[in-house]
Amino acid sequence: MATKKDYYEILGVPRDASQEEIKRAYRKLAVKYHPDKNPGDKEAEEKFKEITEAYAVLSDPEKRKLYDQFGHAAFEQGAGGGYSGGYTGGGFNFEGFDLNDAFKIFEEVFGGGDIFDSIFGGGFSKRRGYSSRGYKKRGDNIQVELPLTLEEIATGTTKKIKYKRYVTCSSCGGTGSKSGKRTTCPTCGGTGQVRDVKRSVFGNVISITTCPTCRGTGEILSDLCPVCNGTGRVKEQEIVEVRIPAGVEEGNYIPLRGKGHQGSNGGPAGDLIVIIREKPHEIFERIGNDLYARLNIPFSKAVLGGKIKIKTLDQKEVEVNIPKGIKSDKVIKLKGKGLVDYETGKRGDLYLRISIIVPDNISSEYKKLIEELAKIEEKEGIKEFLDKDKKIKQ
Ligand SMILES: [Zn+2]
Ligand SMILES: [Zn+2]
Repeated sequence: MATKKDYYEILGVPRDASQEEIKRAYRKLAVKYHPDKNPGDKEAEEKFKEITEAYAVLSDPEKRKLYDQFGHAAFEQGAGGGYSGGYTGGGFNFEGFDLNDAFKIFEEVFGGGDIFDSIFGGGFSKRRGYSSRGYKKRGDNIQVELPLTLEEIATGTTKKIKYKRYVTCSSCGGTGSKSGKRTTCPTCGGTGQVRDVKRSVFGNVISITTCPTCRGTGEILSDLCPVCNGTGRVKEQEIVEVRIPAGVEEGNYIPLRGKGHQGSNGGPAGDLIVIIREKPHEIFERIGNDLYARLNIPFSKAVLGGKIKIKTLDQKEVEVNIPKGIKSDKVIKLKGKGLVDYETGKRGDLYLRISIIVPDNISSEYKKLIEELAKIEEKEGIKEFLDKDKKIKQ
């Protein structure tokens, strides 16, 4: 983990490089270090893998953003591990990044086929390792959304997630066949190809395509497993527990490694990606790690000042000091009473905008006192006046 080189450095591009620059840099290096150009050179092979992995991350805006934010940690978090080091990684698992993955990406970039010959000046053998039958394919990731209240986010929580994923069929061990036997495909007679003859004005047109029955393998399973219908895997309900650290945000994700779909041909399982959704709160508004709310106080409290108690999101009581003569819209900042930052452990602040309560239904006693107050206000010259609206400018 610590020895991993910076992706930008690997490709030799600046951190603000455009997608075009990244691609150009990759193409240049990939051609130079491609194993077919450096047969038997382990160092070149490693280099090829390294640059391709760097390219895979930096060419994907979403992965690049995560990488810029969290570095390699963004892609290294496993299930149940310490969340402090960038659990928001997003399930792009590069731990198992191998040469086949690198070839695959390489071919995507270069387009495959004859283009190789022109790049390498001939003699290039197109790799088929990753596409051939029996290639260990990593299972797909599964994404689930997890709605959380601000209260849950404030304290952190543990949630159970129920979902369905493909697992290897235990009845046939993933072979898809009851006996594991294969027979020659009756459609193509074992060639894996079918010929189609069409008559046209120019004569017969023969086209050869991959056999749809056996998908080119030339064999079919002789007796399908009734449990999985020959697919080798079955959907199963799964329940996992996920720890949510305090302070997560909408869009953060927690990858649970190996909890996604089972891979094929013995390939590793994908990840379960838990995406945090933040439920809107009745009272508190969140911006970053800060919280915002209105604090409604009686007129008497605004005039006289005093201490009041409020409950924050974590249900803890906090004392708020109201200075005497406080005006409407004045904002009181309570330092460190916001949400905790999951990375730094620092707390945001709580901002309370003062609003003065004007009661609707008042008792005769209240009314009498207010009328009394009105007389005093008149005597002391407290009355209406116009003023610049300073809030408009905000
Ligand atoms: Zn089965
Ligand atoms: Zn066939």
